[in-house]
Amino acid sequence: MSEAIRPLRVDRDRLWDSLMSMAEIGATARGGCNRQALTDEDKAGRDLFVRWGRELGCGVEIDQVGNIFLRRAGRDPSLDPVLIGSHLDTQPTGGRFDGVYGVLAGLEVLRSLSDHGLTTARSIEVASWTNEEGCRFAPAMLGSGVVAGSYDLDYAYSRTDKAGCSFGAELDRIGYRGSARAARRAFRAMFEAHIEQGPILEQTATTIGAVTGIQGAYWFDVTLEGLSCHAGPTPMESRRDPWRAACPIVAGAFALAGRHSPWGRATIGDLKVAPGSRNTVPERLVIAVDLRHPEKSVLDTMVAEFRELVAASARAHRIEFKIETVWHMPPTRFDAGLVERIDRCAAGLGLTHAKIVSGAGHDSLHTAQFAPTAMIFVPCTGGLSHNEAEEATLADLGAGADVLLQAVLGVADDLDPIPKESR
Ligand SMILES: [Zn+2]
Repeated sequence: MSEAIRPLRVDRDRLWDSLMSMAEIGATARGGCNRQALTDEDKAGRDLFVRWGRELGCGVEIDQVGNIFLRRAGRDPSLDPVLIGSHLDTQPTGGRFDGVYGVLAGLEVLRSLSDHGLTTARSIEVASWTNEEGCRFAPAMLGSGVVAGSYDLDYAYSRTDKAGCSFGAELDRIGYRGSARAARRAFRAMFEAHIEQGPILEQTATTIGAVTGIQGAYWFDVTLEGLSCHAGPTPMESRRDPWRAACPIVAGAFALAGRHSPWGRATIGDLKVAPGSRNTVPERLVIAVDLRHPEKSVLDTMVAEFRELVAASARAHRIEFKIETVWHMPPTRFDAGLVERIDRCAAGLGLTHAKIVSGAGHDSLHTAQFAPTAMIFVPCTGGLSHNEAEEATLADLGAGADVLLQAVLGVADDLDPIPKESR
């Protein structure tokens, strides 16, 4: 039997207990979590993670944007370490598994190695990236993005939430502005385990998704400006009401995604109305738009069509418009060798497995810019995520962590480049 698939398993009950302990922090009445980035709840979650790392004897490093790295030293400090990571922050009505699973599955890998008294050749680090969700501070995946060099430090510090609090001030307030440089380092590999956040694995009765890449996305703020006036005396035909342009834009965005099905996606996730008074025609609407597709050429076409849609709808109703690109995520391809390794490790453990594309963005898209990266997906009930009812089974979460452990061990000990499928 290949050394790479020695039948070492994680302690899935301990993993589950840790997930549930973390879920108590920021727990919501409907069974979810509200642990948004750099809030008191985020601080409490970070403190718990750091405490668990220290209890394991890990080194703890905090960088300039608050990313946390637990480090379990390997035998040879001259070798590039293996990184496992995801995020502990959640949406305001988030679930118990999105992100948290990847961080705590990483912790469980370290705990399992300690249980068995194993030391790998390479060091293993477990990262909790700051502000992955992007709900409090846009853009999403900010912590890993700064490390990758996609954003500079001052840009990150200057991000503000809806109340006007800055990322930098909030990072200081919770005591997580570290001194380690938030910059690229050499890693032999980076793994992220995550719930799928979509229905495909569940619908195909597949336990492990070896993720080949991530859909590309564009975030736009579309501002539509008309003229505010009295809701009573102003005749309909003489108004310049931005809603007149907004309605065909919203309907057109959905039609556009439909034309590029099954992978095209259009989401209108937020809307601001100014001045926001019932008996005043609004002067301004700001519509938050998210467009996605895994193929760059199709995504570019969708964006061009969307821009044309906005321009035509605004012109038809004498509305001024502005389209701002808030954020763009190009489609990401993961390291083929690591994807294959994950697939083979799943097979070696007797698990059902398939290659899959990620519909959501993850920190891994940033780490893929500077380290060979791959992701492991496990099913979540009904494909539901970013919802307090988000659910996953202990068996699937445990299986994903077992695959993570095998894949990490193989790389950290430089065993077969890709383990054999048979055993
Ligand atoms: Zn996530």
